[in-house]
Amino acid sequence: MGSRSRSQAGGSPPFYHRSDCFLCRRQDGQGHEEAPPPGGYIVVGRNFLAEHAPIKMSNAGTVIVESRRHLLDFGEMTTEESAELGSILHRLVPAVKEATGAHRVYFLALMERAPHFHLWLVPKKKGGRLKGAAYLAAHRAPATNPAAAAMSKRIRRRFEGS
Ligand SMILES: [Zn+2]
Repeated sequence: MGSRSRSQAGGSPPFYHRSDCFLCRRQDGQGHEEAPPPGGYIVVGRNFLAEHAPIKMSNAGTVIVESRRHLLDFGEMTTEESAELGSILHRLVPAVKEATGAHRVYFLALMERAPHFHLWLVPKKKGGRLKGAAYLAAHRAPATNPAAAAMSKRIRRRFEGS
């Protein structure tokens, strides 16, 4: 199955997408294992995209920023990519805070599920029993699709207005 798309292994410039990476396949519109991001992409940059995190794994308002190019981490970014990432986060972090009412935005980048740069922005409200790593590790009720889509739109509106 899919022998035609498999011929793209190694990818082509400028993003060098790989057929064995689910983030590359998703960006190419070939990812079948996951639904499209609720509410659509929040940021569509030259080198990065931002979308709502998978709802089964997150609260509404949790955002993932991912590189378009198949690269692992900060050390593999070009100067242009590093600069764009900084400028996206500069606007996106306040947008997530405003839209969700979060007191902090936690950052998490593990790259275990796919060796392709993706940074989680996890909104954390003030108070509550858990903080820090314990908060990130806790199981919580999954977001619903409509709540995630609505939050994506709120964040995008604030991002674009900033
Ligand atoms: Zn990839």
